[in-house]
Amino acid sequence: MKKQNKTIAAVIIEPIVQGAAGMLMQPPGFLKKVRKLCAKYDCLMIADEVATGFGRTGKMFACEHEDVSPDIMTVAKSITGGYLSLAATLTTDEIYNAFCDDYNAQKTFFHGHTYTGNPLACAVAIENLKLYKKERILEKLQPKIKFLENGLKKFEVLKSVCDIRQKGFMVGIELGPYDWKEKIGVKVCMKAREKGVILRPLGNVIVLMPPLAISKKELRQLLGVTYWAIASALHSL
Ligand SMILES: *Cc1c(COP(=O)(O)O)cnc(C)c1O
Repeated sequence: MKKQNKTIAAVIIEPIVQGAAGMLMQPPGFLKKVRKLCAKYDCLMIADEVATGFGRTGKMFACEHEDVSPDIMTVAKSITGGYLSLAATLTTDEIYNAFCDDYNAQKTFFHGHTYTGNPLACAVAIENLKLYKKERILEKLQPKIKFLENGLKKFEVLKSVCDIRQKGFMVGIELGPYDWKEKIGVKVCMKAREKGVILRPLGNVIVLMPPLAISKKELRQLLGVTYWAIASALHSL
């Protein structure tokens, strides 16, 4: 960044957890340092909170774990609790104001999507956010995160499990080493389906992303079936 900052407009980052890459966790302090470097070299910092936003990592936004405030934040998925498709791009007043001027100055943000601001999706999002308050979703989530963390410890005894990564309700159980051609992740997920649990792998990583409203009983079932699926697919139980 020191050498090339003149040609860098912005840094875009998934804060704290890289989801689709396989639930990869950033080392503590990393995000804060990125924020500092962006400020130092006058680059915009864009936080992609599409996956991490709205409580997924245990706080409303993942950036809060490191007290970071990005210049631009993208959100989607959980803004409607996943019930309707909606996305939003949030910016600082400074950036917003850059698009405000006399009509003749032509500073309009000339970009839009067909369904931008879809009223039905927005209504669902507003109701969803009201539920976060009313049901104290984030508060009730904390003991469930601990419960999940404790339940995952049991997986350490499985020889096929080489790494367990968790931040809040984002979990990656990595199996290996296996060649990706062995389709280990797919095999484990197909096993879990036999017991009514639908999981999705990312290569050799088994992903757990339970809904925030899940009960402890259901979490226990999720953990139990996942453990069983790994054990029976790979340890010929
Ligand atoms: C799902 C996801 C996206 C995809 O967003 P679209 O609006 O569907 O393009 C982007 N970023 C992250 C981190 C995601 O998890």
